[in-house]
Amino acid sequence: MNIVLFGPPNAGKGTQAKLLVETRGWVQLSTGDMLRAAIAAGSELGQRVKAIMDSGELVSDEVVIELIEERLPEAEAAGGAIFDGFPRTVAQAKALDELLAGRGSQIDKVIRLAVDREELTKRVEKRAAEQGRADDTVEVFNTRFDVYENQTAPLIPYYAGQGKVVEVDGMGSIEAVSASIAAALDG
Ligand code: AMP
Repeated sequence: MNIVLFGPPNAGKGTQAKLLVETRGWVQLSTGDMLRAAIAAGSELGQRVKAIMDSGELVSDEVVIELIEERLPEAEAAGGAIFDGFPRTVAQAKALDELLAGRGSQIDKVIRLAVDREELTKRVEKRAAEQGRADDTVEVFNTRFDVYENQTAPLIPYYAGQGKVVEVDGMGSIEAVSASIAAALDG
């Protein structure tokens, strides 16, 4: 099973992806985590993307598509992929559809986590204090949210056209959201 965990920044995608890794044994494919790992490793890629990530804008489609492609075999071997923070543009979604089709596979479901902007802003301050990510200030969040609305939200009609979107209330506790996701996947 291949799923996209979809939603605005700070909706809880990473947290829920990690719970699915535990409960289902699937592989979390987070382009944000991969890019942060590249930065931490001091690689050429990391140096190239750091300023863009810190600003809250998107890195190029080519970069993230390549990162995802490298990890597809591992997810296949595990029996499932949880795409987290990818795709973020319609071009990325189309590329992913083609990559999967070339491997005789497809996206099965898109779980859309619905969380309102006020709640998201509250979470920014909390996570900034806990993790100290440079891209986690309210100012950067506002950029990230605008980028989401302009470039990523168009994926909703894209995937709705394929009949794959299931909406889940993302406003509750981690446990409540996790239970709703499980129901959406198994229902
Ligand atoms: P995330 O941890 O998913 O919120 O990603 C952190 C940052 O990494 C984003 O604000 C972007 O700058 C970059 N990034 C992560 N995933 C993507 C993607 N699929 N496309 C473009 N940029 C991305």
